[in-house]
Amino acid sequence: MTMPKLIFEYDTKNTNHVPTVNEKLDLPEHLIRKDLTIPDINEVDVIRHFTELSKRNYGVDNGFYPLGSCTMKYNPRINEDVARLNGFGNLHPLAGDENSQGVLELMYNLEHILSEVTGMDAVSLQPAAGAHGEVTCCMIARKYFGKSRNKVIIPDSAHGTNPASAAMCGFEIVEVKTNAKGGVDIDELRSKVDSNTAMFMLTNPSTLGLFEENIVEINKILHDAGALTYCDGANMNAMMGITRPGDQGFDMMHLNLHKTFSTPHGGGGPGAGPICVKKHLAKYLPVPRAVKHGDGYKFEYNYPDSIGKVKGFFGNVGMLVRAYAYAKAYGKNLTKVSQIAVLSANYIMRSLDKYYHLPYNKTCAHECVFSGEKQAAKGVHTMDIAKRLLDYGFHAPTIYFPLIVKEAIMIEPTESESKATLDSFIETMKKIAHEVETQPELLHNAPTTTPVGRLDGVKAARQPNLRYEPVCRIC
Ligand SMILES: *Cc1c(COP(=O)(O)O)cnc(C)c1O
Repeated sequence: MTMPKLIFEYDTKNTNHVPTVNEKLDLPEHLIRKDLTIPDINEVDVIRHFTELSKRNYGVDNGFYPLGSCTMKYNPRINEDVARLNGFGNLHPLAGDENSQGVLELMYNLEHILSEVTGMDAVSLQPAAGAHGEVTCCMIARKYFGKSRNKVIIPDSAHGTNPASAAMCGFEIVEVKTNAKGGVDIDELRSKVDSNTAMFMLTNPSTLGLFEENIVEINKILHDAGALTYCDGANMNAMMGITRPGDQGFDMMHLNLHKTFSTPHGGGGPGAGPICVKKHLAKYLPVPRAVKHGDGYKFEYNYPDSIGKVKGFFGNVGMLVRAYAYAKAYGKNLTKVSQIAVLSANYIMRSLDKYYHLPYNKTCAHECVFSGEKQAAKGVHTMDIAKRLLDYGFHAPTIYFPLIVKEAIMIEPTESESKATLDSFIETMKKIAHEVETQPELLHNAPTTTPVGRLDGVKAARQPNLRYEPVCRIC
């Protein structure tokens, strides 16, 4: 496959006689530019250029996307239809409560659905992402304790955003180790909790894809010490209708609507990371909050203890509409969503556990984590396996995360995929395990079927340069 040109690199002659904007536009002379360093090519070539690029992109609409921890499930098109309804899609954020009754009602109802799913008492839909929800909850913990407590305890299997969020709010991070069974080391936790502990943040199910067995005891240890407990609920796809963080004893949590509730994600947003809290923390939630008012609804700002606003206007409302459509379409069948997501992950795990090392060999939740150690001993690393999957037309799983697993391969199939798709992925992973034994060079050179081969990932992360520097054509 040849590399497409950049749009700046086409022959810049516009040969079409496209109608131009009124040339006698009545603009002050000094404001009219004589030339622009933008491409000047035919409309049809613009369309071809971008259509070609879009074909080279890989998304969940192209194929299996088992990116662990990211819940890359299918985004049902009905959500898109609903979000584009005139009353939602064209509503101005400054329209005022009176003209926003529909969206207010939707937000009010969505908060109640999320309360029901999580077992929490009050919800704010404002945060724009999971990590943003974490920061918002850390701000609530700050407000709750004032300066009196300064430590946040976080297991080493947590999502990386957890310590980052707590640190951003000025907390000192205390780490607890994971035990041999993949859970929180309770003895170590006990030894680290003290009167300076503000909060414990737990990713549950953990980034090992495991449900924390001692969750009730953990919550008790923290509460006995007067601390708050926080559940990173980005992995709620494993738990809907089965168990609720509120019932497990947590005080606060966040959800990722762009994971569990099927709103699109990737490419940096927009997302939605609502937070859900117990009664005693409700007064700290961000304002405004959608409340009942007479026969209708309004945005209420009068919460003197609120931490304030954390996002412009009312959050990424278009995402809330999509999540609401999803939740209403499934209703009580959200339970099935989680059951099938968990079943699919266990199916993959048990189908591949003879081929790839399973560091924590127990029933998993919505994702399973292998280690590529066996293959690494033969000189083929997890990176090679991930790149080889691209040659077979799959998106790679999450790799080298969680950090506590060597050569980690983290696979999350979600409930969207048919058994046939799972089987074809499983067969491919087996085939790759065989190639490691017989033709390791295939893996070292992969991918060979994609538009570009191996990129310098470190350079891309450390020195990103996404801007085309145009050659000025007039100077
Ligand atoms: C995805 C994820 C987050 C962060 O969510 P963003 O929306 O990307 O900020 C936090 N915790 C866990 C466990 C996650 O999987």
